Amino acid sequence: VILLDGKKVAESVYQKVLLDISLLPQVPKISFVMVGDNPASATYVRSKAKRCSALGIQSETVPFPTDVDETTVVSRIHSLNKAKDVHGILVQLPLPPHLSRERVLSQIHPLKDVDALTTENAGLLFQGTPRFVPCTPAGIMEILKFYQIGLSGLKALVLGRSEIVGKPLAQLLLQCNATVTCAHSKTRGLDEECTRSDIVVVAIGKPKFVGPQMIKQGAVVIDVGINRVEENIVGDVDFVNVKDKVSAITPVPGGVGPMTIAMLMKNLLLAASLQLK
Ligand code: NDP
Repeated sequence: VILLDGKKVAESVYQKVLLDISLLPQVPKISFVMVGDNPASATYVRSKAKRCSALGIQSETVPFPTDVDETTVVSRIHSLNKAKDVHGILVQLPLPPHLSRERVLSQIHPLKDVDALTTENAGLLFQGTPRFVPCTPAGIMEILKFYQIGLSGLKALVLGRSEIVGKPLAQLLLQCNATVTCAHSKTRGLDEECTRSDIVVVAIGKPKFVGPQMIKQGAVVIDVGINRVEENIVGDVDFVNVKDKVSAITPVPGGVGPMTIAMLMKNLLLAASLQLK
């Protein structure tokens, strides 16, 4: 079994990012818009900022109190859109319930939308001419490319259909000529859907949900799940019981997780080069 090492793949992405930074006329900068004090969001923003500083990228956190009104957030996004020294804007999700995620995200200038969540960037991806690709699905594709796992003609199952993981990933796999099924909470006969698939990507947020009875011998398994169980982080796949059945699998932690930030940095570099050229 091959352990798909996301840290190793992320390192190779960072090497390329460093090279790209050196070719830019200006140091790239990203703004993290953070509403409220959700501890998980704060941790994510901190690790993104830490990675920026390790790479020599500028970053700033734009914090708002939980009860901020939408107009205030939107007008700040507008000023970040105009700021010449800001190349990427990331609104950390989730937003508090009184703010509309769609309305807020749609205000980000598409060329600064490094999380690839605006309608324009989602549309470009859907049409097969992506500009920015959402970071987690992009990271999964990068892992598959690094380990030279060919997808053409394979049966792929994506378990989960969120806007940030499942849906865009299904599109990307389809563009690589896999035959793609996207399953979700209403799917009937999920076990059979899984066992006939050559590659299974699980992004549902249910600890150890996918067990060995759901996996075909020799399949490739990508586990996106990040679930805090007591003091540990576990994936959506029952790794210990699945690993001996598969040809390749991502561990949690150390699989998809490290790739998400790496691809954010890659998107930021693309954003900066599009704006500075
Ligand atoms: P969402 O909660 O947005 O979506 C979950 C999806 O899973 C939905 O489509 C839902 O179906 C489906 N689902 C839930 N329960 C079941 C079930 N029992 N059977 C089949 N399908 C089910 O999650 P995200 O996509 O945002 O995240 C998924 C997981 O990935 C989480 O653990 C999250 O923490 C992790 N994650 C990890 C990242 C990383 O960097 N590694 C980045 C982003 C997320 P329906 O649509 O029908 O409700």
